[in-house]
Amino acid sequence: MDLKADAQRMEKIVSLCKRRGFIFQSSEIYGGLNGCWDYGPFGVELKRNVKNYWWRVMVHERDDVIGMDGSILTHPEVLKASGHVEGFSDPMIDCRTCKARLRADQVIEKKRVRQCPNCGGKDLTEARPFNLMFQTQMGAAADETSIAYLRPETAQSIFVQFKNILEVSRKKLPFGIAQIGKAFRNEINPRNFTFRSREFEQMELEYFCRAEEGMKLLDYWLEERLKFYENIGISRDRLHVKTVPDEERAFYSRGTYDIEFDFPFGRQELEGVAYRTDYDLLQHQKASGKSLEYFDEETKQRFVPHVVEPSAGVDRTVLALICEAYSTDEAPDEKGKMETRLVLRFHPRMAPIKCGIFPLLKNNDQLVAKAKKIVGLLRAHMNVFYDESGAIGRRYRRQDEIGTPFGVTVDFETLGEKTAALTDTVTLRERDSMKQERVKINDLADMLISRIS
Ligand code: ATP
Repeated sequence: MDLKADAQRMEKIVSLCKRRGFIFQSSEIYGGLNGCWDYGPFGVELKRNVKNYWWRVMVHERDDVIGMDGSILTHPEVLKASGHVEGFSDPMIDCRTCKARLRADQVIEKKRVRQCPNCGGKDLTEARPFNLMFQTQMGAAADETSIAYLRPETAQSIFVQFKNILEVSRKKLPFGIAQIGKAFRNEINPRNFTFRSREFEQMELEYFCRAEEGMKLLDYWLEERLKFYENIGISRDRLHVKTVPDEERAFYSRGTYDIEFDFPFGRQELEGVAYRTDYDLLQHQKASGKSLEYFDEETKQRFVPHVVEPSAGVDRTVLALICEAYSTDEAPDEKGKMETRLVLRFHPRMAPIKCGIFPLLKNNDQLVAKAKKIVGLLRAHMNVFYDESGAIGRRYRRQDEIGTPFGVTVDFETLGEKTAALTDTVTLRERDSMKQERVKINDLADMLISRIS
């Protein structure tokens, strides 16, 4: 692995994300808010495509999964019962010399003496737990009784609503409840661009089952989730499955896999697939005093279901897609001279813009009118981008840089000025091969829909 080349690649990706409107530092004009990011015009489209596709395959295309959308502000009792108030913490050490707050595993040890990695100081405090949850106050009173938390994961609201959803949906085991939404963690060291943020989005499924099905479903969901990543354009050889060893697993989990991706900054977790047993529901049943049991009509048994949880990060998936897509090759410029082309090779399903539409000349009313008509035709089915400024090659390049898979050019043939048979046809250019074909305007929508869905 070439560490320098990887670091440079990452720097280029971060700068492209800003330059082309994918991701900006939050509150940038005020110096930035550490660990928080804003998605720009193309970033928001990419992120939506990820979430929509997840929802489509995890909820809409299945009979056994339904969705919910829970509140971010969370009752403290929920997070006490789940163990987050007590246990959701990293051990921290303060350096008394430079006042840096360090995660215990960042402290270096030389000849058995602990040292601050920032200033080399040796005057360090003992490790103390630092809770990763954001706490806030609800209502006018600012005392113990008004404490609420921003949720550190979306899962808990699913467990807490388990009974309500079971009653209204009348699902039989095994079945799942899915949710996409924001989660917040006061990470000590936000880093690697959006990879470790303080505010991020999760896509979580809690798949409830009988105890004896847990281990088999864990493997089933691992495979489903690997398929998901391949279907959004992440190549299988950059995905890795780590079987989390006993000593690293949450104590209640009977089996956990991490799905990892080769980011330029190393192999890192994209998603965790965990068999959480009946721990969460039992905890909430005990703390709330409300039954969270399932009644099996066939066997007439009552029991608290077990659960398998695939938990993915939206922001990490978006970052993986951008890292995977980023590439350069050679393409001819206006005069036929080869130049380096920067291209995001997004899977058409994920690309923020599906098709660029270009009149050959912007000062020809007929070309412009035809191009705008095509915009109208396609817009009902997909996100398109109209661009009339600059040489056609430049317009292609701009779309290549944001990963638009198709480009349509309206030229004089379209107007029927040269060959009558070509009237109402356009050139359709494919991003990766740069191949162009002549296509009837009437066939365009069907042709593109089949390639992007
Ligand atoms: P890590 O070990 O990287 O901190 P984790 O094991 O604590 O992650 P989980 O609690 O399993 O993460 O959360 C499920 C998913 O939520 C992760 O796989 C990841 O995609 C996402 N996620 C968790 N923490 C963050 C974060 N700080 N920033 C962005 N995404 C995150």
